Amino acid sequence: ILALGTLSYLWATPGVAPGFWDMFVLAFDDFVLGKKLGEGAFGVVYRVSLAKKPSSKQGDLVLKKATEYGAVEIWMNERVRRACANSCADFVYGFLEVSSSKKGGEYWLIWRYEGEATLADLMQSKEFPYNVEAMILGEAQDLPKGLERENKIIQTIIRQLLFALDGLHSTGIVHRDIKPQNVIFSEGSRTFKIIDLGAAADLRVGINYIPKEFLLDPRYAAPEQYIMSTQTPSAPSAPMAAALSPVLWQMNVPDRFDIYSTGLIFLQMTFLLDRENTDNWDIQAFPALRSDSGLIQFNRQLKRSEYDLVAWRKTVEPRASTDLRRGFELLDLDGRIGWELLTSMVRYKAGQRTSAKAALAHPYFDREGLLVLSLMQ
Ligand code: ADP
Ligand code: MG
Repeated sequence: ILALGTLSYLWATPGVAPGFWDMFVLAFDDFVLGKKLGEGAFGVVYRVSLAKKPSSKQGDLVLKKATEYGAVEIWMNERVRRACANSCADFVYGFLEVSSSKKGGEYWLIWRYEGEATLADLMQSKEFPYNVEAMILGEAQDLPKGLERENKIIQTIIRQLLFALDGLHSTGIVHRDIKPQNVIFSEGSRTFKIIDLGAAADLRVGINYIPKEFLLDPRYAAPEQYIMSTQTPSAPSAPMAAALSPVLWQMNVPDRFDIYSTGLIFLQMTFLLDRENTDNWDIQAFPALRSDSGLIQFNRQLKRSEYDLVAWRKTVEPRASTDLRRGFELLDLDGRIGWELLTSMVRYKAGQRTSAKAALAHPYFDREGLLVLSLMQ
């Protein structure tokens, strides 16, 4: 099954090295397990290479062995591959492996290896966001180091993330686990892509319709517990759902769950910029958001301000640490345009949050547009 699946994938993929046809005769032993990349409650992820092509970079793959939720994840990945391939990591094949010792077998999912760094890894570096600059913008810029330049890099990351999300949402998929750990830098396309569709829901056909809240990461989850109103009847049959879902989508805007998480990433990237205090990050009165405790503390404060970012800012700004003040300064560039976008993403009510498509059209991403706008005023 694996050989046939891989074969059909290669058949359909232009630009694959001819040597890849060797995979026709692949067996399980031909996979050489490499480094473990991740291990969660629902599966283990390895980098793998093919024994026959040990030195070929193109042959590098990622293998996830997943529990029962693997079935949904395979379904989502296949749908993404057909409908919005550039949004997510390049999926090769997925199947149920029944020969394993696990009762009922395990799901195996295979992707192309996109690169070594997730956004979370990159954000951990003291160089962030400059460590990302050459990766996404090609050359380093003429601008001197400082807020303007950092803003430009962060802007590009957020735009790429929103672009990928717009693809998913237009396909009818809500990811529900958007966080820096699930955003990978694709070295091939020099863009950020989304990974880990293990908690995703496809609302157009009702797959994984009832949210599994326990799958959600509380650090990045929006305040609404359910992405769909609990009033909507549970999992309609597929044809029913296909007819109903555009209406439900309009009513419940489930995609805005991901927008909230993306807003938190935006916030987190902005407020970790203080270069002088990097060693003190965790002991400051307000630790930078890049640390887990910083994000958790931020979430507590935001909740206390009833999820109103403007109110939150009023409470923290007067006694803000250097890095926090610097973050506000960055968001306030160009007539507060970044702050404006951020506050349109992080709102209590899902219906009041901007969509991925609308956010992409926001003037924050279009400096020339902004200039024209200010000239006209
Ligand atoms: P989990 O369910 O364990 O969170 P993920 O799908 O998020 O599984 O993958 C775990 C880790 O494996 C990611 O954080 C990333 O570091 C790495 N990874 C996943 N997919 C790829 C890929 N296509 N290319 C490179 N690395 C990947
Ligand atoms: Mg993950």
